[in-house]
Amino acid sequence: MAIHLRSPEEIDKLRRANQIVAAAHARLAAILRPGVTTLELDREAETVIRDLGARPSFKGYRGFPATLCVAINEQVVHGIPDKTAVREGDIIGLDLGAEWQGYYGDAAQTLPVGAIDEESADLVAITRECLYKGIEAIRPGGRLSDIGHAIQTHAEENGYTVVTAFVGHGIGSQPHEDPQVPNFGKPGRGPQLRPGMVLAIEPMVNMGGPEVEILSDRWTVLTLDRARSAHFEHSVAVTPEGYEILSVGVA
Ligand code: MG
Repeated sequence: MAIHLRSPEEIDKLRRANQIVAAAHARLAAILRPGVTTLELDREAETVIRDLGARPSFKGYRGFPATLCVAINEQVVHGIPDKTAVREGDIIGLDLGAEWQGYYGDAAQTLPVGAIDEESADLVAITRECLYKGIEAIRPGGRLSDIGHAIQTHAEENGYTVVTAFVGHGIGSQPHEDPQVPNFGKPGRGPQLRPGMVLAIEPMVNMGGPEVEILSDRWTVLTLDRARSAHFEHSVAVTPEGYEILSVGVA
């Protein structure tokens, strides 16, 4: 396994790529409302990314046709935008990436569409907390599996399950790099966390069981039991002091 350690100059570029991703996410949150189609969201994300001088990195990746991966309700990740209009009460996962000057950004959020039921609001809130628990587990000299352990512990303490079939990843001059970053496991295992590592941490948390299946479109991942699922992701650099979340801020 070759884990890249990025220089401060490379981190600067990764920060910029991720700020562009964050700007697209802010725009999507601003326009999301009942009746919007996932294709409209996709077009808006692509416009923001291109206007900021970057390229939508999911588009064409392994044949994926869009800027945005969407996941409504029981969908977990990787849905293809289309003419489906979101409805009041839905939750929608939005995952997008951008390449800027050869470096990649990647982040995801799950948003409510209008008013949602309490159970869904709790799932979304806990999944967001799981992301931050994972991030806060990062310390130089710590171990990679500390992240997944923190995520799984928080999800299961709240009665949820984590998806194990998909994991986070390193990110840098490629959209997916070593190491894989599982959202589960025992602490104190795996590679040592070192300053300059950049990781995309992305818990997928289910209301029901952890099992998933893939639709016949060969992209959309959904829960086997059709219970709802949520997904949050940040790209995070390990620093000498701890960590820096790159996928935030105004581009
Ligand atoms: Mg990712």
